[in-house]
Amino acid sequence: MLIFRQLFDSTSSTYTYLLGDDESREAVLIDPVFEQFRRDRTLIAELGLTLVWTLETHVHADHVTGASLLRRRLGCGVALAATSGAEGADRYLRQGDRVAFGARYLEVRETPGHTNGCLTYVLDDRSMAFTGDLLLIRGSGRTDFQQGDAHAMFRSVRAQVFSLPDACTLYPAHDYRGLTATSVAEERRFNPRLGGQIGENDFVESMANLRLPHPKQMDVAVPANLRCGATSSDSADLADPAWAPLSYHFAGFWQIDPHVLAEIRDRVQIVDVREPEEFNGPLGHLHGARLIPLGELASRTGELDRARPIVAVCRSGARSAQAVVNLQKEGFTQVANLPGGMLRWRADGGEVEGGRA
Ligand code: FE
Repeated sequence: MLIFRQLFDSTSSTYTYLLGDDESREAVLIDPVFEQFRRDRTLIAELGLTLVWTLETHVHADHVTGASLLRRRLGCGVALAATSGAEGADRYLRQGDRVAFGARYLEVRETPGHTNGCLTYVLDDRSMAFTGDLLLIRGSGRTDFQQGDAHAMFRSVRAQVFSLPDACTLYPAHDYRGLTATSVAEERRFNPRLGGQIGENDFVESMANLRLPHPKQMDVAVPANLRCGATSSDSADLADPAWAPLSYHFAGFWQIDPHVLAEIRDRVQIVDVREPEEFNGPLGHLHGARLIPLGELASRTGELDRARPIVAVCRSGARSAQAVVNLQKEGFTQVANLPGGMLRWRADGGEVEGGRA
C-alpha cells in the first residue's frame, strides 16, 4: 500500500508531498520547504519511515528548499532535474528515469515551460502525478521569469500530462484558493488556459499578459535553491534548542510562536529593542520586558544573563530579528525572535503592560 500525505506551507502556499512504501518503509519527499523541516522530520519519524530522496519539481522562486537540511539531518539523497542548473545534488534526473522507494517508484518526465528544469513525477501505476508549477488546478505556472517559455509549457502539458489516464490525480506545487488536487480529465476539460480547444498560440498570448508581481522571496530563494538549499554558513547549529519548541528561519536564527512565549515567559529574558517612546507608547510592552534599544545592544550585553534564554521583541519583528543575529555573534546561544513583534503579539491576544487597548 502507498503511504501518502499532502502537506502545506501557508507562507508560500507550497504543497509538499510525502510518498512511502508501507512494506519497506522507504519514502520520498517532493518539494520540501526549508522552514517546515521540523514538521516534515517529525511526521517521517512518527510514521516510521526512512527518507531516501528529496525530489524537486524545479528550482523554486518563492521558497527555499529543505533538501540540503533534510540530507544533513536524515541522510537522504537530493535529486532534481539535470537541466536545472543546480549544484550539489546527489542525482540529476532525466526523462524516463525512475526514483525508487521500496517496491514503488516515480517515473520522471521532463516538462519545461515554467523553468528549463521542471519535472513531473508520475507514480508507477499512473494513478497520481506531481506537476510542480507546470499545471496548476484550473491554471498553470508562470512563464515570465527563470527561463519561462509558454510554447514549451503548452507542449509539456499536452504531451506529458494530458497523455496520462483520465483518472490520474494531479497534484500541483501550489494552490492559492484552497484546492488540493485535480485530475487529467478535469483539466483537459476545464482548464481555462490549457484545456478544451485552446491552441498553442492562444495560450502563449494569454501568458504574455498575466502582469503579476515577482515573488517576494525570489532574490533569496533562487540562488539558495541553485545550491539545493544549502545554507551559506554550514556551521549553523541546527540542533533543536531544548528550552522551547522553536522554528528555524532560513536567515539563520530561531523564532518563537507567541503562544509558546506566553507559556514560558517566566523562564526567559524578554529584551525589547525598540526606542523608549515606543516602549512606553500605545502598543505597550510585555510584562517583565527589559528595554535595550537596538542601537545600544552591543554595549549593554553585560546586563543580560548568558545562562537564561532570551527572546527579542520589537514593533514588527524586524529589528528584533537583527538583535537576535547580533546577540548570536556575541556568543549568546539561546536566543529567539518574536516574529511579528508587538503587533502580532497584541493581535493574538497577548497580555500587555501599559499602552492603549
Ligand atoms: Fe515555481
